[in-house]
Amino acid sequence: SKVPFITLNNGVRMPQLGFGVWQVPDDEAADAVSTALESGYRSIDTAAIYGNEEGTGRAIAASGLPRDELFVTTKLWNSDHGYDSTLRAFDASLSKLGLEYVDLYLIHWPVPEADKYVDTWKAFEKIYAEGRAKAIGLSNFHPAHIQRLLSETEIAPVIDQIELHPQLQQAELRAFNSRHNIATEAWSPLGQGKGLLEDARLAAIADKHGKSPAQVVLRWHLDLGNVVIPKSVTPSRIKENIDVFDFELDADDLATIDGLDSGNRLGPDPDTFNVA
Ligand code: NAD
Repeated sequence: SKVPFITLNNGVRMPQLGFGVWQVPDDEAADAVSTALESGYRSIDTAAIYGNEEGTGRAIAASGLPRDELFVTTKLWNSDHGYDSTLRAFDASLSKLGLEYVDLYLIHWPVPEADKYVDTWKAFEKIYAEGRAKAIGLSNFHPAHIQRLLSETEIAPVIDQIELHPQLQQAELRAFNSRHNIATEAWSPLGQGKGLLEDARLAAIADKHGKSPAQVVLRWHLDLGNVVIPKSVTPSRIKENIDVFDFELDADDLATIDGLDSGNRLGPDPDTFNVA
């Protein structure tokens, strides 16, 4: 496929566009992931809390694709923070996925109140040293959380997966990450499909290029340098979302999309999300 790679700060190459499976039930995940792999996706983003690591793993096994052509991400859930519990949770995820290693393991949320993410990260460093995760990173971490890891632990995170879409463009966090050589990965890149994709200004850009609003938004992310992981269970949309390498946005388009940044956060605020 035409999906470019980005090189993470430890030298690992990651497809810039992948497939997310949040809210896909385990018994539907295998079909969705199989469709994605047949459509050219090689990167899959799951998490322990999604409850679909087994279905995801079944699709991976059934694909017959060489393991080194796939990029599999999973995440540690909030209730498993802490050194020993992280090691146990990682074993459970690997076993559900049916894999010997993951390409990327992420701390799903910092859970500041629990104050355990430094210990969790030390377990991540051990998993990385053992080669059971080829890269380790973060999700929903803000600069203060990242600074603490950088000063109290050995290995720098490769990536921070954060809520990012045209209505929440995260300029400051993207700049912080890039200063620290941490890649930025956009979750809910399509704004969960709700209001964003119906915006008339996006529709006009889409019409101009003969593409869909979703494709315009994904192209915008790629131009910004974000890793992007759109989700769909609809085969035509799964294909549509990876068909974004045959057009370019111009300066007017980019300025219009810049103007959509309303600070509209769809998910929790990482500073106050302490649910385990
Ligand atoms: P998304 O922004 O990818 O939107 C998905 C929704 O948009 C679909 O359910 C569908 O309703 C619609 N859609 C998809 N393709 C479309 C198309 N071509 N045309 C029209 N509508 C379309 O939302 P998401 O699932 O929240 O985010 C993507 C992935 O990010 C998740 O599956 C998950 O892997 C990850 N994620 C991570 C976190 C985290 O805390 N780390 C949180 C949320 C999501």
